[in-house]
Amino acid sequence: MTQDRTDLAPWQWPDQHWRGIVERVRAGRALRPREWPGGARCAVALSFDSDHDTTDLREGGQSIGRLSQGQYGNRQGVPRILEILARYGVQTSFYVPAVTALLYPDEQRRVIAEGHEIGIHGWIHERNSELPPQAERDLQMRAADVLERIAGVRPVGIRTPSWDFTPHTLAITREMGLIYDSSLMADVDCYELLMDGAPTGVVELPVEWIRDDAVYFNMNRNASLRPHTAPADVFDIFKREFDAAYREGGLFQLTMHPHISGYRSRIWILDELIRHMRAHAGVWFATHADVVRHAKAHAA
Ligand SMILES: [Zn+2]
Repeated sequence: MTQDRTDLAPWQWPDQHWRGIVERVRAGRALRPREWPGGARCAVALSFDSDHDTTDLREGGQSIGRLSQGQYGNRQGVPRILEILARYGVQTSFYVPAVTALLYPDEQRRVIAEGHEIGIHGWIHERNSELPPQAERDLQMRAADVLERIAGVRPVGIRTPSWDFTPHTLAITREMGLIYDSSLMADVDCYELLMDGAPTGVVELPVEWIRDDAVYFNMNRNASLRPHTAPADVFDIFKREFDAAYREGGLFQLTMHPHISGYRSRIWILDELIRHMRAHAGVWFATHADVVRHAKAHAA
C-alpha cells in the first residue's frame, strides 16, 4: 500500500508514488465475449439503485420532507419500474442499501420474486472514503447478511454507494467472494480488476455518470437549481449509448433510481427505451451477475 506523502506537493512526488496510487485498482484484461448467449449481438444490463430514504439519512439528515421523497421510491417508484419490466419480461439488477431493505423488506422480496437480482449498495449509503477501513469492511459484510436474510438470496455483486471506492474496497469485495463490482468506469466492456498490478478474479461491470439518471434530474432546492436536462434529452442520450453498443456488438449498462425516475413525466424513458431496444434483433437482457458470468466464461 502506498504511503501518504502529504509532505510533498503532487508535482514533487517520486514516480513510484504516483504510479502506486494509480495502480492500487486498475482495469486488467478486457472481458468482451466472442458472442452473447443465443448468438445475441448486444447485451443490456439495466440497474436500479433503491437509495430511497438513505440519501438524506446518510448525511445525518432528518428532514421529514426529504424522507417522504425516499418513501415515494418505495410506494411509487419501484412499483412503476417493476410493472414495466414485467410487461416486457426483462430481468435487471437492483442495488439496495441495507437500511432500505430493513425499511422495505416486502419490496426486496417482490424484486427477487419477479426474477431480478439484488446487489450490495452499502449500509446507509455511506461514503466509503470517509470511513476507517475496518468500518467499511464491517458495513459491507453486514449489508450482505441483511440482504440475504430479507430477500433470501446471497448477493454476488456490489455497487458502492455513490460509486465511492477506497483503496480497501476491492480487497473486501474479494475477501467476501463476490464475483463482481459495478462502480468503476475504465471501459464499456467488462474487465478484470487488478489490485497493485495483480489480477484479482473480480470482474468490473462498468458504470458511467453519463448513463445515470441522477446527474440529469437531481436538484438542489436551496441553490435554486432546477433540473435542466429535459426528459426527452435524457432519453436521447441513453438511446444513443444503446445504439452505439448495438453497432459495436457490446454491452449497454444503465443506472436509474426509483426515487428519481419513478415519476409520471420520467418513467416513460424506461418504457420507451426498452421498446426501442426490443425492436432490434439479438438483444440479450440480463442481470449484471449473468452478464458478468457470461463475459468471464467466454472472454474473446
Ligand atoms: Zn445509490
